[in-house]
Formats: sequence, structure tokens, C-alpha cells
Amino acid sequence: MVYFLSETEQKFLTLNLRPKIRQNPVPEELRGWNWHSPPLKPYYDVKLPMYIICSQYCPTRRDVYLTIVEKVRGEENFKIRLGKAVHSAISEAITKAKKGNFDSKPPEYGNDAIDKAVKLVWDYTMSFCRTAYLKVRAEQSYASDDDVVLTSIPFLVEHRMDGTLLGCSGIIAVDCYDYMRNIVFDVKVGDFNPNFRLYTTGYALVLESLYEIPVDIGCIVSVNFGDRMSVVKDIHYIDANLRSWWIEERDRKAEIVFNETDPGRAENCRDTCMFRSVCS
Ligand code: SF4
Repeated sequence: MVYFLSETEQKFLTLNLRPKIRQNPVPEELRGWNWHSPPLKPYYDVKLPMYIICSQYCPTRRDVYLTIVEKVRGEENFKIRLGKAVHSAISEAITKAKKGNFDSKPPEYGNDAIDKAVKLVWDYTMSFCRTAYLKVRAEQSYASDDDVVLTSIPFLVEHRMDGTLLGCSGIIAVDCYDYMRNIVFDVKVGDFNPNFRLYTTGYALVLESLYEIPVDIGCIVSVNFGDRMSVVKDIHYIDANLRSWWIEERDRKAEIVFNETDPGRAENCRDTCMFRSVCS
């Protein structure tokens, strides 16, 4: 399922990734709870949304200037609408499943392609939640229903957090935090790109800054839709390099906003950029 690990993924985690992490732990100064000291301490008094810090699609970072300084709203294209609908469907399906409403129907958006994708991801999510719930229910016959739900579907979805200690916005929503395996998840609709690991890194740092627990593992879930749906997971160590990269991105973008400097147009803009009409 989107957030449940397969047997193979669990083996990779237990026998490969976690031992490597124990041998090469994250340096203390790069833990989110050290937000008050360099290098994590924000250099500029600017608060940025997580997507602004982590987005990598504009080579000059002009998207940051346009969004935050000029307050320009980009044009929502199909890909963005699909992404929003899929995120919302996964979160709603898990919320309903936790209440035992396994037969709930998916929301509809009035667009055939989006509705088809939403139904696919909804049914997929719901069936895994039901299976996990029934499995734990059968194995722990003396457990309370709360206990069964909390251990079989151990996901905080769209978990709201205050990112201000790290120079992020006051309301940040992480797609999913698995509190039993201590993994932070981010869902992307489309093909995997290693740059996406910046998102899991940012969320892990915020979790560490708030709850003062180490969060070492992230997982990008790439979901694609055709006639069938495909789900590919990238389970990774949120290591020192990723943390340093996230800090650099935050400070570079905060500088643009603080100085209100237009970094100028990029040369190779993507066709799907929301600001094509503004920058052309
Ligand atoms: S259109 Fe080009 S320059 Fe403008 S924000 Fe998008 S990628 Fe950047």
C-alpha cells in the first residue's frame, strides 16, 4: 500500500538500511532539535512554506520570488489538480479506515481522468487498511479496538506541524508519519526524482525540532496512472548530505525573499511550470 511496506521493503530496512545508519549516524548539529545553533539556525528572519524550500523545478528559483515577494499565483494545470486530488483521497481513505468505514466511497471531482485515478488509489488504500486491521484483530483478540486501529494503521496523515523553529511556515502538513516504524513519507504523482528527498528531509527536521526524537528514514512514494496504477517506493536514509542540502536551499531561498531580489528567468523552463505565462 502507499504507506505499508512490503515484505521485501521491510527486509531492506531491517537488514540493510538500519544497520548502515547505526554505523554512520547523523551528526548532532544536523538534528532538528539543534534549530537554535548553526547550521540549522535560520540565517534570515523569513518563514517559508516547505514546498517553496524543497521545489527544484526552477533553475534560478524565480518561483520563490514570484510566489512570496510578488504574491503571484501560478496557473493550476492538470498535473497539479491530479496531485491534489490523489493526496486528498489517500488521506481521506485512511481517516475513514481508522474509523472502521471501510466501505466508504471515494470523492468525485467531475473530471473522468482524475476520478478514475482517485478511485484506483482509494480502493488500493482501503483494501490494504482493511487487511491490516483484520490481521491484527485476529491475532490480538484481547486488544481493544483503539489498540487494533492504532497499531494496524499507524499513520499520522496530513499531520500538521509548526515549522517556525527552522524558518518554515507555522502550518506544515506532512503527507504521512508512521509513528511505529519512525518513517516519514511523501507522495508524488509522477516519476521518481532524487530531488524529492528534500521534502522528506525537511519534514524529518521539523519532526525532530518539535518532538526531539531522531527521524532517520524517509520514503518517497511515486504513484503513476495509466490503465493501471503503479506505486514505487524510494526508502532512504536522511543523512548528513541531505540535511546540509536542505539547509542550503532554505537559506538560498530565504535570501531571495529577505532581499526581495528577482533572480531572473531561467533558460530552460519546463512546459508544466505554473508561471510560464508570467515569465514568458
Ligand atoms: S517559467 Fe521558468 S523562470 Fe519562470 S518560474 Fe517557471 S521555471 Fe522559473
